[in-house]
Amino acid sequence: MNKVRASAPQLAGLVPYDPKYLPAEAFLSANENPRDVDADVRNRIAREIKKVAFNRYPDPLANDLRDMIAEANGLEREQVLMGNGGDELLFDLALAWGGPGRTFLNLPPTFSVYAANARLTGTTVIDIPRLPDFSIDEEAVLARVAQGDVDFVIVASPNNPTGLMARPEFLERLLAATDALVMVDEAYFEFSRQTVRPHLAAHKNLVILRTFSKAFSLAGVRMGYILGAPEVIREFIKVRQPYSVDAVSQAIARVVYANRAKFEPGIDAIISERGRMLEELRKVPGMEVFPSESNWVLFRMERASEAWEFLYAGGVLVRDFSRAPRLEGCLRVTIGTPEQNDMFLARLKEFVMRKEGV
Ligand SMILES: *Cc1c(COP(=O)(O)O)cnc(C)c1O
Repeated sequence: MNKVRASAPQLAGLVPYDPKYLPAEAFLSANENPRDVDADVRNRIAREIKKVAFNRYPDPLANDLRDMIAEANGLEREQVLMGNGGDELLFDLALAWGGPGRTFLNLPPTFSVYAANARLTGTTVIDIPRLPDFSIDEEAVLARVAQGDVDFVIVASPNNPTGLMARPEFLERLLAATDALVMVDEAYFEFSRQTVRPHLAAHKNLVILRTFSKAFSLAGVRMGYILGAPEVIREFIKVRQPYSVDAVSQAIARVVYANRAKFEPGIDAIISERGRMLEELRKVPGMEVFPSESNWVLFRMERASEAWEFLYAGGVLVRDFSRAPRLEGCLRVTIGTPEQNDMFLARLKEFVMRKEGV
């Protein structure tokens, strides 16, 4: 038959995720670590990969990694689950706690994957938009969950793409106010150096998402994990693909996690460059610069998409949110190496000067 019937109705109008990657000299659009895994760790990885039996299925649950991460976090293996990137675990969340007749509370503007997964799984999405400074409308969220019909909430902290953490006092109140599953997405916690992990002990409805993609330079490998109560982890295991985390990725992540102290100087450098970028951006006329506890800075300016083009023509790729709802006029620049950041700053200043006709 040279025709095919329509796919599931919830796919109508869905646009596939497109990170809009383009080749660039300074690639500052995807919140990756600008420093790749160092030569010594790469050599150790190569030795481990040589030992992998390619003909055998991997350990479905990656228990060695679960044990390493559990130990580092003062938890048990049953409180940790690995995924094919954090993205797989976000999808598993929507499968396990969402679905037709179920409700997800979203706090836009935030990571667009959350709402996309909800739509894919036929989950109802309730939006409680952030305030104009992108802080959470805390009282509105607490009032909404009090209605009792919300099944899960995701709070990115720091929030991508806006940059700030949720206030710890708010998260405590939220966890106490509802039995909905509350995912705190800590994909960038190595840059904020703050975590809600201590609350796991008292709150079975808390699940924390982390990833190897950002601080640990493994965006290309696909490895993420969640921390939660054993009964929550068990539900995720029911919906996950049994072999989603392959043996090679497991080997790489084991070496990287065992050597994670080696990433600290690079993380320190990003945090210090973040301070410099915030300061320099605030000096540029016409910029509204949002504070950041992560590895990027979001800023708003006039003619933002023109500025994006100008930056790109000069070899600097940043992320253009200027047409995204509630992010009008905003661009997001990932903190790169000092050289990349200088390139970005010089080019942006050039754009602003031209515009002013100086
Ligand atoms: C990058 C990111 C993730 C996870 O990314 P993976 O590469 O799939 O591990 C999760 N949440 C947010 C907010 C992110 O920015």
